Order: sequence, then structure tokens, then C-alpha cells
Amino acid sequence: NDEFVIHYQPVVDIHKNEIVSVEALLRWQHPEKGIIQPGDFISFIEDCGLIVALGEWLIFSVCKQIKLWHDSGLKDQCVSINLSPRQFNEQDLFALFTQAMSENNIEASSLAVEITERTLIDNIGEVEGTLKKLRSMGMQVWLDDFGTGYASLAYLKEFPVDMVKMDRTFVNGIPDNREDSAVADAIAGLTRGLKLKLLAEGVENERQLDVLKSIGCQYGQGYYWSKALPGDEYEQFYMNQIYNIG
Ligand code: C2E
Ligand code: CA
Ligand code: CA
Repeated sequence: NDEFVIHYQPVVDIHKNEIVSVEALLRWQHPEKGIIQPGDFISFIEDCGLIVALGEWLIFSVCKQIKLWHDSGLKDQCVSINLSPRQFNEQDLFALFTQAMSENNIEASSLAVEITERTLIDNIGEVEGTLKKLRSMGMQVWLDDFGTGYASLAYLKEFPVDMVKMDRTFVNGIPDNREDSAVADAIAGLTRGLKLKLLAEGVENERQLDVLKSIGCQYGQGYYWSKALPGDEYEQFYMNQIYNIG
């Protein structure tokens, strides 16, 4: 019924204070109930298999949005897209991305995919093959919700990943919770050693930001900067904040 919409949440370089990318997040605009958050419908959509068709719609819609932003002067916009395990098993993601990019005349460097540890474990051969092909085109691969799944650390060493997103449960606890602070510090050390980029999710206040800066985390995302916004509002946000974010 044309009731799905996509909102966009910026990712910021916390040392340079500038927007570096933006994450595409699904919303269901229900005619009576208003906006429904993905936490309330994504797992159902995944379980019944609809995520494949919905994911395809999202990829094409995001590419169209990138083209619109390019046309209105927002250059170098990299948009990250969340992918579910089933999308790797049940469709040719490489062909899909290639088609969506060529139809809208955009480069692979304008896109990143976000996968979780669950996706890695689910079907490692298929997933690894697809990720390698996407990366060889110039697309980035990010590991979402890091620290909450079941993947062994060895995956990080061997897998074609560019950036790790530290789960917001750890960010939430710093600096007051000693355990969360220790985990955040350890993830920062691990990603530094493996030469992976690190993004902290769910940054909400200055105190968290100070800790993240001090442990060498370069990228952040969260309500401290902005919640996810409709495409046109994000464009406005980007234009307003480009010189003085934060
Ligand atoms: P996620 O990928 O971990 O997305 C981050 C979630 O954290 C988003 O919730 C975002 O709105 C929320 N968030 C951002 N900043 C803050 C903050 O400072 N504090 C707090 N407390 N929360 C913050 P959202 O949009 O409700 O998405 C929930 C989950 O739904 C996502 O988690 C992702 O796993 C899934 N999802 C969303 N869109 C898609 C999609 O297109 N495809 C798939 N497969 N999954 C999606
Ligand atoms: Ca994500
Ligand atoms: Ca996440």
C-alpha cells in the first residue's frame, strides 16, 4: 500500500566534526496508527520472507534518493543499508545493487552495507562470496551491533569488513558503568589493532562523546547529533550543519 518510508540518520566524524555518511532506516507509516518503528515489525517481516521483496524496494529507493541528493548538490553522500541473512540466501544482491546503481547513475562508493554477526554465521560461504564481490566494486561492508552476537573474534580478522559499529548498549553505559567502559575500551583496542574503522552507535550526550574521543573512536551516530529524518529533512539538516555540527 505504499506505506513504507525510509528515514536517514547521519554518522559523524567526531574528531573533525563533520557528517561522513547516513544510515537508511525503515519506518511503516500506518494510516491509523502513525509511524511504526522497525523493532515492531522487522522480525515478523524477516520470518515470513517478505524482507526479500522489501529489501529490494529499499535498495532501489535509497539509490533514487542518493541521485536526488546528488542533483541538489549533496556530494559524497555514502548511505548504509541494513541487510538481513535471508537477502543473501534468496536473492542475487550483487545483481540487484548493480542494477539499482546503474539505473540511477551512482557509484558503489556511495553505498555501504550493514550486516550483523548473525548474518556471518548464518551462511558463511554465500555471505562471504557476496560481500567480496560488493567490496570489489567499491562498496563498504560494516559490521553492525558489534559485541552482542555470537561470532568469534576470528571472523573479524578474516572477514571482508571495513568498519565495526559498537553496539549502543555499551555506549549507553559509559562512563558510569565500569563493565561497559571496559568493553568499549577493548573494542577500540581490537579495531585499532586490526586496522578497522570504529563507529559508536547511540551516542546521546557529551560525557559519552568525551570517553569515545579519549579511546580513539573516530565515528559516532546517535540522538546527540540527530535522530533518523525523512530524506528532505535530512537534506536540510546536512545543509545547515555542514559547517557547524554539534
Ligand atoms: P540498528 O541497525 O542497530 O539501527 C539503529 C537503531 O538505533 C535505530 O532504531 C535508530 O533509530 C536507533 N538510534 C539511533 N540513535 C540512537 C540513540 O542515540 N539512542 C537510542 N536509544 N537509539 C538510537 P530503528 O530505526 O528503530 O531500527 C531498529 C532496527 O531495525 C535496526 O537496528 C535494524 O536492525 C532494523 N532495521 C531498520 N531498518 C532496516 C532495514 O532496512 N533492513 C533491515 N534488515 N533491518 C532494518
Ligand atoms: Ca544498522
Ligand atoms: Ca546497530
